Amino acid sequence: MKSERFDYLRVKVSAAGLSRTKNLNWKYFFRFKIWENCILKDSKFNLFGTNYKVRFMDAVPGGEPDKFIWGDADSMAHEVRIATKDVKGKDINSDEIEITKFHELMHVIFGEGRYSSCSDDEPLVEWCARCLHSLKKQGIL
Ligand SMILES: [Zn+2]
Repeated sequence: MKSERFDYLRVKVSAAGLSRTKNLNWKYFFRFKIWENCILKDSKFNLFGTNYKVRFMDAVPGGEPDKFIWGDADSMAHEVRIATKDVKGKDINSDEIEITKFHELMHVIFGEGRYSSCSDDEPLVEWCARCLHSLKKQGIL
């Protein structure tokens, strides 16, 4: 399922590049590819001795049937899961996916540091995620 999404994004970029000159098209394509790989590729990281996985999936399992889960950070499995499709099966836009990734990473960061009250503070976690996303978009991170 994931490869289908990669193909879809690749086609979308190529189509968007048609209106550009050939040089700009390739620059745009490769920049997008690098960014796309960073954002949607499953990965692993180590946070001061604890290994975690980041996994992207169509839908994050669990929760109540009528409640959509954008992502979760499983501190027992040491895994962050991010949804790539919304409740109707439509692709979630890349900015929202990245914000979700940062959001779940903030849960991991606070959780691993035993800052439980911060990890439980959803507005704080979301604020940090949106700040990180903004800084990344500005090329600071
Ligand atoms: Zn949260």
